[in-house]
Amino acid sequence: MLDELAHIGRDPATHGYVRDAWSPADLELREWFGQEAARRGLDLHDDRNGNLWAWWGDPDREPGVVTGSHLDSVRQGGAFDGPLGIVSAFAALDRLRERGFAPARPIGVACFTDEEGARFGVPCMGSRLLTGVLDPGRAIGLRDDAGDTLADVLRRAGRKPSALGRDDETLSRVGVFVELHVEQGRGLVETGAPVGVASAIWPHGRWRFDFHGEANHAGTTRLEDRDDPMLAYARAVLEAREAAGRHGIVATFGKVRVSPNNANAVPGLVSAWLDARGAAEKDVRALVEELSRGQRVSEESWTPVVDFDVPLRDRLAAVVGGEGPAPVLPTGAGHDAGILASAGVAAAMLFVRNPTGVSHSPSEHAEPDDCAKGVEALADALEELAR
Ligand SMILES: [Zn+2]
Repeated sequence: MLDELAHIGRDPATHGYVRDAWSPADLELREWFGQEAARRGLDLHDDRNGNLWAWWGDPDREPGVVTGSHLDSVRQGGAFDGPLGIVSAFAALDRLRERGFAPARPIGVACFTDEEGARFGVPCMGSRLLTGVLDPGRAIGLRDDAGDTLADVLRRAGRKPSALGRDDETLSRVGVFVELHVEQGRGLVETGAPVGVASAIWPHGRWRFDFHGEANHAGTTRLEDRDDPMLAYARAVLEAREAAGRHGIVATFGKVRVSPNNANAVPGLVSAWLDARGAAEKDVRALVEELSRGQRVSEESWTPVVDFDVPLRDRLAAVVGGEGPAPVLPTGAGHDAGILASAGVAAAMLFVRNPTGVSHSPSEHAEPDDCAKGVEALADALEELAR
């Protein structure tokens, strides 16, 4: 199945994937999801927020055991982040049928829309709308790089923007959710296990720093006459790195906008985005506090820590681990499973080993043998939960 998807949204120059929500590539992937559901005789439900659900059994009779992930990508992303969870979900369902397993509860495969937020800047859009943590009025006004609002984009895809919002009917069908995902670090490499279970998602946030100065000529303005905001920005980048090390967290300035952005001008304004994450909220807050002194800073997003359901995670670790329990490890990356968990849904995650730990890059990788072990582990987990 991953081979079938390999050409969709791939940049021929870099081999990176560009699968923005509601782009032609995304629509093709959604189409593929519907075909895979039909091929297995599953009932397809396209919910009000654009999330897709393929059901084996009737979730209106009893809430189901749901697995799945997302098919969109970051820009210039890899082949595994998202699709591995969906492909493994269909493959695990096939394994259950091969085993002759007759589920006592319905089993569902979910595809959450716009998980990465590559187009409109808000990650986990589908699950945030579904659970009501994102206001639909705010969502439909978000704009992409071309200046189109989400409402415009949805209308062009033949959908009703007014339908967006908390969807209790769809949510009531989810009894428990298990998301399989390629690991985005080297935790499993260190433990030597192909599959692990998530303990928590670190609290994380995004802040915009605006460094103001005075735009002027790069050749004729004497050094002592300059008010160059690039210097304050450069200092902040170095300070962020130093403070992150001191607090034992990660902090990244990964996006910067320079105005007027001329090679021969001292800039007048530098806006830069800080992403900071760590195991403890207080350490992340302390770093942002230190960097904020004397700067104009606005918090664009904040996601508190997500601690996955402990009995569920321990139960799955015992089931998927083989001889001993599977390793249990935290992650610094956000996921739909985290959004559902925060909304009170029993949720868990399985990670598949990533030999280099690289993710959000064309070189993201998982060995076929580890992917097969992930499918087997997911099938075991579903069997445990749906028996
Ligand atoms: Zn993902």
